[in-house]
Amino acid sequence: MNAIALSYLLLAAQMGLYGILWSLTAWLVRSERLTGLLGAAYSLCWAGALALFALRGTLTPWLTYTGADVLVLCGFTLLWGRAYCFDRGRFPWRRWSLVTLFGALLLIWAGPAPEHMDLRLLLLALFSGVSGFLMICYSARPLRQQLGTPLSWLICLLGLAAILAWGERIMMAQSLPIPAQDFVYPSSHNILALLVIWLLTIALQLGQLFMVVLRNTRKLNDLSVRDVLTQLLNRRGFEARWRELPAASRSLLLIDVDHFKQVNDRHGHDVGDRVLCHLARQFTDHMGPSATLARIGGEEFAILLPGEDIANAHGRAEYLRSQIAATPLPSEQGALHVTVSIGVATSQGECLFELLKQADLALYLAKRRGRNCVASQQDLAAQMS
Ligand code: GH3
Ligand code: MG
Ligand code: MG
Repeated sequence: MNAIALSYLLLAAQMGLYGILWSLTAWLVRSERLTGLLGAAYSLCWAGALALFALRGTLTPWLTYTGADVLVLCGFTLLWGRAYCFDRGRFPWRRWSLVTLFGALLLIWAGPAPEHMDLRLLLLALFSGVSGFLMICYSARPLRQQLGTPLSWLICLLGLAAILAWGERIMMAQSLPIPAQDFVYPSSHNILALLVIWLLTIALQLGQLFMVVLRNTRKLNDLSVRDVLTQLLNRRGFEARWRELPAASRSLLLIDVDHFKQVNDRHGHDVGDRVLCHLARQFTDHMGPSATLARIGGEEFAILLPGEDIANAHGRAEYLRSQIAATPLPSEQGALHVTVSIGVATSQGECLFELLKQADLALYLAKRRGRNCVASQQDLAAQMS
């Protein structure tokens, strides 16, 4: 066994380890089961193919040439299958099986005979080029989502350069005499081909792993700041958003559903939940994109309005209150009328805790005034004087 064959054997062992790691991912991470299984299939196809490359001359050519070719082909077609699955959440079984079967039959038809080396290389170049290109196409959207546009363009261009480098190696091989065309023949061309394969396999594995980690980190971050029921921000998300906003005037509406306990008692907890979702939709519909909407307690909501003074905020709170009162929720027991009370406060540089306290005092005033109404810091001040 020469040095190149030995290197392929080491690379095969490395791919085998990746295969074990992806299998563990599939086993341990329920939400990434398919990604893990496809990663394992991809890595094990390559591990098998690279080991068979290394064993050329010791086992039958049908295994070390045609068998290796078929595994390489599966590895390539799995490239775009995995990218498709990562983007759309399902594997294109029918399309993938048809293309792979077609390619495998062509490679079996070409057989291991040395005089067909040109044809085998051409077929593999064709399948690897098209698979790599499709993989880049299907990866473009997830890359953009996770990394932003400039970085995703850079990665796609690097991917295209890698396909061209790989294609160039294969086309070059075709101009060599037949034994030298074989990947494990000791020549400078094949050392370069080995380096290209080595770099590509590592880049693809780490790239895939990085994307899975990034996607799950984003998912967890998003879960940690969102309320499950209404999909508005929760208290943690609300506080984080507060810190991001410029410290200029920020108005806060603190909203509490009136007599909500009665809704639960009369109609059941499930209807109570539907009321909360209905209110969340009303906030989204009426408050515009600049508002930060959050559910900060059981039936308590907060809305941050950046750059609005107390008079404006009071006007918008009054509009929201009237819309909610005028929009009953259809239910099996007939239209369900719900009202809210709103406390309004504006920050003059205070911390969030202080602003919430001010809005809470105003909210209590609104409740005392008979509910279904709005009260602000100014109303509190007027009452004190
Ligand atoms: P008030 O007008 O004074 O605010 O009266 P209220 O009945 O709305 O206030 P109270 O604090 O007595 O009741 C709040 C109720 O909100 C009690 C609790 O069961 C209910 N609640 C809290 N979280 C949820 C939830 O996620 N779903 C449902 N359905 N009910 C909830
Ligand atoms: Mg309450
Ligand atoms: Mg209430």
